[in-house]
Amino acid sequence: AGGFGRKDDTRSRAAFEEAKRYIPGGVNSPVRAFKSVGLTPAYMERGEGAIVYDLDGNKYIDYIGSWGPLILGHAHPEVIGAIKATAEKGTSFGAPTLLETEMAKLVCERVPSCDIVRMVNSGTEATMSALRLARGYTGRSKILKFEGSYHGHADSLLIKAGSGVATLGLPDSPGVPETVATHTITVPYNDLASVRLAFEKYGEEIACVIVEPIAGNMGVVPPLPGFLQGLRDVTTEYGSLLIFDEVMTGFRVHYHCAQGLYGITPDLTCLGKVIGGGLPVGAYGGRRDLMERMAPAGPIYQAGTLSGNPLAMAAGFTTLSLLTPETYEQLERLSLRLQAGFEDNAREAGVPVTINRVGSMVCPFFNEKHVVNFETAQASDAGRFRAYFGSMLELGVSVAPSPFEGMFVSAAHTPELIDRTIEANREALRRL
Ligand code: PMP
Repeated sequence: AGGFGRKDDTRSRAAFEEAKRYIPGGVNSPVRAFKSVGLTPAYMERGEGAIVYDLDGNKYIDYIGSWGPLILGHAHPEVIGAIKATAEKGTSFGAPTLLETEMAKLVCERVPSCDIVRMVNSGTEATMSALRLARGYTGRSKILKFEGSYHGHADSLLIKAGSGVATLGLPDSPGVPETVATHTITVPYNDLASVRLAFEKYGEEIACVIVEPIAGNMGVVPPLPGFLQGLRDVTTEYGSLLIFDEVMTGFRVHYHCAQGLYGITPDLTCLGKVIGGGLPVGAYGGRRDLMERMAPAGPIYQAGTLSGNPLAMAAGFTTLSLLTPETYEQLERLSLRLQAGFEDNAREAGVPVTINRVGSMVCPFFNEKHVVNFETAQASDAGRFRAYFGSMLELGVSVAPSPFEGMFVSAAHTPELIDRTIEANREALRRL
């Protein structure tokens, strides 16, 4: 007891076997099953700050952070306090509440592209709704996305997707009708020439380009200089909308999101993860004239029984309120320390590792080359990742069980925990 690392997994094993009887694959989201790393998932029991504890009493430094939302760490007292206080008054009304306006106002103040914003319940709903708006507004059917990007599991977006689809090595998903798939054009990330070619061919039919301004579902892949500006230019030229999917990057990389970091303003922005503070929230927002095409202001339909849910708004509002520009400076310092430590370790161990990082999104690839798109991300050594992942778990560090997901550093990670993580990484690389 007291030490970090997976010493025993008896209870997690039993829990997983039981779950498989009632839940497909035992999980409610695929990558959680640890299938691609060939291990039993650790069943989590509780979290506190940067630490999580599993059913078997093992303790880990957590870099999953619920896949992005927990920028303040687990069970932040103020966030939990806000959820509790709100819950006392009722959990859902299906009628407007003041919290929704407060939340929308805060999001609009911080996100440069958002004049106005609509809350939904997940990132998937946010991107799905933004696509509908783009198509409804432009009267066009085609969309352009990037290979290895993940924008949730809506039919149109589940084409050459990253995240779990890439982790499990699945071809495009069955169940997406051919007639839908033909409207999705995919090109390599960071490849403006291919984008331009697609527009030369289909420009008048393309409703929108949807892009993760920093790709976070093929590992972490920052935009090359000029890439986002190029997308801004070509969409404007052809009368298409530019959608930034900031579900992962929103409030993660900068006080004003990735669009604030890079100074590029999209027409529409999708949000999720951090804005929910660990509760189910998504949002899409943008220019007023566009957003007011949505019902009931306009004719394009989208709705939700639990949208703007009081508990979710309380958790999200409190989280965003606690984030200051200084938080991002702190995250930058911690993440840089982590990156530098990992780079020293890789050099020392003679293991080829390339680390991509933007703020607190950090991704070590077992790759000699620069990773700039899905193809180069896929060139990473999957076998090494599997072995590394298992060692890290044993040594007390929980990272995503996939080479296509980065690590999320939170404001609850102390320099001591970062150093402990660097030590674990050193040992894990030595064991390879
Ligand atoms: N867009 C991006 C960029 C994401 O990273 C994700 C989830 N990882 C989604 C959309 C989908 O969000 P959700 O899982 O909340 O539906």
